[in-house]
Amino acid sequence: MTLYSRRKLLATGAAGGLAAAAVVSAAAAEDYSAAAMSDPGPRDAAEAAINPYEWQGLPTDHGNLGTLRHSFSQVHNRHTDAGWAREVTVRNFPISKNMAGVNMRLPAGAVRELHWHVPAEWAFVTYGSGRITAVDSGAQRFVADVKVGDLWFFPGGVPHSIQGLGPDGCEFVLVFNDGNFSEDSTFLITDWFNHTPKQVLAENFGVPAATFDKTDRKDLWIFSAPLPGSLDADLAESSQPFVPNPYAFPLGDQTPVFQSAGGSVRIADSTNFPATTMAAALVEIAPGGMRELHWHPLSDEWQYYISGTARMGVFHGEGRNNTVEFHPSDVGYVPQSIGHYVQNIGKDTLRFLEVFTSAKYADISLASWMNNVPHELVSAHLNIDVATLRKMAQSKTPVVPV
Ligand code: MN
Ligand code: MN
Repeated sequence: MTLYSRRKLLATGAAGGLAAAAVVSAAAAEDYSAAAMSDPGPRDAAEAAINPYEWQGLPTDHGNLGTLRHSFSQVHNRHTDAGWAREVTVRNFPISKNMAGVNMRLPAGAVRELHWHVPAEWAFVTYGSGRITAVDSGAQRFVADVKVGDLWFFPGGVPHSIQGLGPDGCEFVLVFNDGNFSEDSTFLITDWFNHTPKQVLAENFGVPAATFDKTDRKDLWIFSAPLPGSLDADLAESSQPFVPNPYAFPLGDQTPVFQSAGGSVRIADSTNFPATTMAAALVEIAPGGMRELHWHPLSDEWQYYISGTARMGVFHGEGRNNTVEFHPSDVGYVPQSIGHYVQNIGKDTLRFLEVFTSAKYADISLASWMNNVPHELVSAHLNIDVATLRKMAQSKTPVVPV
């Protein structure tokens, strides 16, 4: 959107108001009359301003790709006395068929109950610190402390827990490789105990049935507990071997795999984090910078916006292209091999996560495609000078310089 058309939009919005939906044709968007762009209302100006491209796309936009953006700020929050969680799944974000997201807060001492689930769990700590535990199918154990910028990955079926540490616990996002997953339907240790006869439990553990007299209570899910002792003390509780591939990884501490004046990209996939079957990238873009035009051949992309203001263009073929604006706590979704770019249109550093259901990170760059096939061939398509094409980079430029 040019400065002119943005002003025109704002002026039109102020004069008339915004309608529920608009499909703007590529040819005529700039030429619509004031009458055609008017909306006598009712309208909610604050709501409409969150993603102004729903009302009027860029002149190059066309068609309706559905809802490519949701926000944790706009979904039901499930509270307990100890903490909370909220989720964006295929039920409230229909495009997110292959991944579901959860945003969870565990203040100091708060525990996400020992549990497991069918899909794998990928997580990124956005605030504070916590302690995570797990045991794998070989009875090999895992206990670690994670801090802001770290991630963890628990394979499907591996039982685990999370607890907020001092001074103020943690907040994090979880991504599951199934859009239909719900945080409300995990397998809880208390739930199983509560529905198994005490005599069976006694037999199973080789202890008197009275051992479980105080165990009967409802599901804990998120509950308060005393802060744990030192990590060393928790590790000393078992003499079983440690898992061969640790489930935590300090993504934020990694040297970026790509850095330019426009920003940086850090990647965690099975190459440097062998435990994972879900690849991810942490992208930082300076004001005015852009994540280049690209697509991902192996997986859909689930995005979480941490800071800054972004504008993403999504190209879906058959003339369809939509533009979407993102703010902190927003979730974005781009299906596999669908072309897109992400611009920082704000004044602050844009930081966001890209999460995938493939073990390996992969993207294909429009620029490197064009510049690694014969230039005459490309020129015949796009009518760009061969001399100009030869000056373009042949390698990928994940974040183009400002
Ligand atoms: Mn879990
Ligand atoms: Mn991408």
